[in-house]
Amino acid sequence: MANPFTTFTCTRLLSLVLMIFSLVIAPVHSAETNPSWETITIDGRQYVSLNSVKNAYKFTKMESSNKLVTLQNAKVSVKLNIGGNECLMNGVKFVLSHEIATSNGKPYVSQIDLAKLIDPVLRPNFINNAGDFRTVVLDPGHGGSDTGASNSLGYEAFYNLKVAGLVKSQLESKGFKVIMTRNSNVFISLQERVNIANAIKDEAIFVSIHFNSGNSNARGIETFTLSPPSVPHYGSGIKESDFATRMVTNTILQTSP
Ligand SMILES: [Zn+2]
Repeated sequence: MANPFTTFTCTRLLSLVLMIFSLVIAPVHSAETNPSWETITIDGRQYVSLNSVKNAYKFTKMESSNKLVTLQNAKVSVKLNIGGNECLMNGVKFVLSHEIATSNGKPYVSQIDLAKLIDPVLRPNFINNAGDFRTVVLDPGHGGSDTGASNSLGYEAFYNLKVAGLVKSQLESKGFKVIMTRNSNVFISLQERVNIANAIKDEAIFVSIHFNSGNSNARGIETFTLSPPSVPHYGSGIKESDFATRMVTNTILQTSP
């Protein structure tokens, strides 16, 4: 059986996959305030049993097969791999901050993943100020001497700007104020992009648009969000800066390929 958590590798430039880096400013509902959660501490980190997740979110079934745990109800199927940090919700892959753990043979998910990933996906209507913004900062990735990925169709920087322009028109037609970090093929440093975003006083979201390169099987959209404090960037080791306070606290749904 194919591993359901297989991901594509970014080793060849045969196809371009749109990547959107999105950040939303929103509070998170903490699992620890609910007394019915079955919690334990592993390596100083709080975990919640998948059995209490099943009860809290009204899953009708929880099945385990080898290392795969499936939670199921009429609308949602959640697949988690014990020891793994990837999760499929209705077939869409999400990357957890911490691996699924076990204690006394029972599977547990970290509280941070429950609060900041699983809960907002399963109960988006519980995100207090979701959508409560009128300003969108669009950041076409790369530009100028930094061309980004390339293939026979051209350079990523061009397509990022093209897509950002189309998104800008659509957002403005719906009444959003849109600020672009660049409007032409110029180089802007990452810090300059951050400075543009931080200068905005209103509630806003920041969306950085990229075309990723991958192998010929790669399709669809990948969405990255800022990881919670104390969680390293996906695929890299923990750094001191990962413990810095961050005001961005929520997770965006990935769009299914
Ligand atoms: Zn890029």
